[in-house]
Amino acid sequence: MSHHRLAPFKLDVIIVGGAVAGLSTAIGLAMSGHKVRVLERSSKLGKPVGGIRLPPNVTKVLVQWGLEEELRRRASLVRGGTNIWDLETGRLLGYLEWAEPVIQDSGAKFYMMRYSDLHEILYSAAVKAGAEVIFNVDVCLVSPPLRPGTSTSGSTPCLPRERPSVLLSDGTVLEADIVIGADGQYSVVRSSLQEKRVEPQITGTIVFTGSVPMKRLLEDDLIKAENLTSSWVYWLGPRRSFTGYPISHETEFAVHLYVDRNDPDAPEGWTPNVSAKSLKLSDTILDRKYSWVFEKVDSVCWQRYLDWPKIENWSDKSNRIVLIGESSRPLIPCSTHSCSVSVESAAVFSTLLSYVRNLDHIPLLVRAYETIRRDRTEFLHQVEVQSVLQTMFPPGPERTARNKEMERLLRARQGKWDDDAYLGLWGQLCEIWAYNAFDAADDWWVQWGVLRERALSLQNPNIETPFRRLEVNISARTDMINIDYLDH
Ligand SMILES: Cc1cc2nc3c(=O)[nH]c(=O)nc-3n(C[C@H](O)[C@H](O)[C@H](O)COP(=O)(O)OP(=O)(O)OC[C@H]3O[C@@H](n4cnc5c(N)ncnc54)[C@H](O)[C@@H]3O)c2cc1C
Repeated sequence: MSHHRLAPFKLDVIIVGGAVAGLSTAIGLAMSGHKVRVLERSSKLGKPVGGIRLPPNVTKVLVQWGLEEELRRRASLVRGGTNIWDLETGRLLGYLEWAEPVIQDSGAKFYMMRYSDLHEILYSAAVKAGAEVIFNVDVCLVSPPLRPGTSTSGSTPCLPRERPSVLLSDGTVLEADIVIGADGQYSVVRSSLQEKRVEPQITGTIVFTGSVPMKRLLEDDLIKAENLTSSWVYWLGPRRSFTGYPISHETEFAVHLYVDRNDPDAPEGWTPNVSAKSLKLSDTILDRKYSWVFEKVDSVCWQRYLDWPKIENWSDKSNRIVLIGESSRPLIPCSTHSCSVSVESAAVFSTLLSYVRNLDHIPLLVRAYETIRRDRTEFLHQVEVQSVLQTMFPPGPERTARNKEMERLLRARQGKWDDDAYLGLWGQLCEIWAYNAFDAADDWWVQWGVLRERALSLQNPNIETPFRRLEVNISARTDMINIDYLDH
């Protein structure tokens, strides 16, 4: 089934934020023929140095959008297995096998790449699909459509405005049929929807991100001899852990270091802004044998892990202002699924909006998006929080239990196969990787959307619905979709 289906009714869309969520949504919507403007605060595509992982559930969306060649050209593949080391003793604790058949069964490859490469790929694809990406635009406020006599301040009546609008920092007001907040964890769009200001809890965990040329790492005899950087690796320690993986066809090594460190004045941001030496990051690596990594990284960026309460509504009352990506669910920084939430949601949202029939149809499709994405997003977030917490256990029963589990995985590698150890792990991975965002949206449409179209057309024969062409095929789900949208 083609997901470049043209929508029967073309919407005028504004997306606030031009990073992974914003650009992915722009690609999906522009491919369906909608008019898309992306408003991005920064002045141009940045050059942040970090790495990002794209599991199969993400790559299958990007492949469907025609980006496979670009991924192959710029990224490194996850293959082999991941060694898990103890930061205190240098001992090998565990091993995760990235079994080729399991990855293949999930329907796509698992890549690791530079964040800036991913950003560039998405940007080019969005522009090619017809989206307009406007830099240097700071959105200050988003307002829902206003009925006559209502007012944003509650006192003065104002002119009716049928469409939602955004206010820019230079005073300009722009309107659209739908406004999407893809503006990250400190989302202005989200604040505009909420009656009360919502504050996150500071967890005390800080994430440092950077990368280092592989050539420089391989000057180190130990790294070379032990082949430490050839695949994705983990080092676990008390209240700290780090992970590293090759990117850019193994010419670079990306690192993320998680440390419990209370530092209220941390210079947070995604631009590398702190020298790793000045932070004495290598001191956090307890076994001196492994301090090499942070001695060789020039500079890192610094992100705080903030625990945000679950956001009640992802859209306003009119369902014409919608949140997507980290604005809907802020995540733990630099997790394996940083991209999953954004790209999957973008695919679901844009697929649903490829069915839009008129402006009155938007609320139904927006509510469907929320229904489809809420549980999945929360599930991914919780999986990531648990997995990062596990890597940082201090001494105690939890750490002992974790290490025992690791040993089972290690034994499985050494030939003493343990079904339970691997089936448990892969069971969860398969659930995550097998997700197909396009199917999730199409399934909803077939189960619920089409039913509603039928009910509408029976109630009012004068209403123009695409369903009218489908009556013959009511029992053949796949046929219905094909006939419906190839027609338009
Ligand atoms: C520059 C940058 C580098 C990153 N590097 C990495 C990395 O190396 N590894 C990793 O795992 N994750 C990285 N991330 C985080 C990762 O992109 C996110 O975790 C995830 O992909 C969700 O993305 P998002 O688009 O929802 O939010 P974000 O990535 O936070 O993007 C939000 C976007 O909205 C823009 N914006 C915010 N407010 C406004 C406003 N009022 N008006 C206009 N524009 C606005 C921001 O400038 C930003 O471009 C990075 C994010 C950014 C912004």
